[in-house]
Amino acid sequence: MTTANPLGTSPVPAALLDSVAARLTGPRLLRAAPIAPYTTFRIGGPADLLYDAETGDDLAEAIDIATAAGIDWFVLGLGANILVGDHGFRGLVIRNRARHVTWHPDGRCVAESGTIMADLIREAVAGGWSGLEHYIGIPSTVGGAIWQNLHFLSPAPARERTMFIAEVFESCRIRRETGERRTVDAAYVGFGYDDTVFHRTRDIVLDVTFRLTRGDSDAMHRILQENLSWRGARHPWLEHHPSAGSIFKKLEGIGAGRLVDQCGLKGFRVGDAQISHMHANIMVNLGHATSADVRTLVAHAQKAVFEKFGHRLEPEIGFIGEFDSVVQSG
Ligand SMILES: Cc1cc2nc3c(=O)[nH]c(=O)nc-3n(C[C@H](O)[C@H](O)[C@H](O)COP(=O)(O)OP(=O)(O)OC[C@H]3O[C@@H](n4cnc5c(N)ncnc54)[C@H](O)[C@@H]3O)c2cc1C
Repeated sequence: MTTANPLGTSPVPAALLDSVAARLTGPRLLRAAPIAPYTTFRIGGPADLLYDAETGDDLAEAIDIATAAGIDWFVLGLGANILVGDHGFRGLVIRNRARHVTWHPDGRCVAESGTIMADLIREAVAGGWSGLEHYIGIPSTVGGAIWQNLHFLSPAPARERTMFIAEVFESCRIRRETGERRTVDAAYVGFGYDDTVFHRTRDIVLDVTFRLTRGDSDAMHRILQENLSWRGARHPWLEHHPSAGSIFKKLEGIGAGRLVDQCGLKGFRVGDAQISHMHANIMVNLGHATSADVRTLVAHAQKAVFEKFGHRLEPEIGFIGEFDSVVQSG
């Protein structure tokens, strides 16, 4: 068995799972539960333990418990940027359902990290607060959005620059990998393109304070509509074609998808995993795709692009849990 990321691959003795389960009691804990339904790719085997955290404190405590027991843990947002292995996750997967939001009259809003971005955007726009509407249509929790430094193009018609969620970020409360709870600022988070400190540490975001500004309702609704239709015209619909968004990292000035397209791979398929006909940097699950199908397709696209153009495509998505070895196709 090989995996790009060893998290969730070490077998956990049943007695240890029992003792962790005993400390995470309640109807929100499942054993040997499939992770696939909680990801946008709809792929992946079972988690030994799958726990729903309903508050930021639940989330931090569940991590404390898993850490003290020495088992692997993973915080799952909407599962929009990951591929879970067919053999699942050895240890504890924590679904982040901490969704409490507090609105302040000065435009600050404190959202727990499991808040779904689409819900927060709807509330912000209804309240007349601007700054989040650009990210409509991107599947994400607030925690995932900070982890990623969520980004999209500035409003039409110019669409002249990339906007980042960092622009409306004020601070966040985190559980540091040491276990300490602490409020940190943007300098600590170190926002970059698809990058923050959360990629390099096991710190976890518990809640986020955004600083929004008063916005014109018509202008915000225009952005919502234009951005949704922009996405609808270019990306396969998740409801019909589950995916994890862009598979390969941006290649500055070149475009990873363009290279895959120029290899003639749109529509190319391994099992039920297919390179989208609409967008060559997106792979879709046609129904029963396995993580092995996706990884074989990834390897095929990487090989084709390297042989034709000499560029090495790097996956953007995270690989979580246990995978079979990759079979080179073609
Ligand atoms: C159809 C589609 C379109 C997309 N379009 C865009 C786009 O336009 N722009 C863009 O930027 N992204 C885009 N993405 C990527 C994706 O939406 C983002 O990466 C998103 O931020 C993932 O959030 P999530 O809550 O689903 O995180 P998950 O996928 O569940 O997790 C991703 C990583 O974040 C970590 N994480 C989750 N919650 C926390 C937390 N509270 N604290 C610390 N780490 C945490 C996880 O542990 C994991 O390592 C797209 C994805 C899809 C499927």
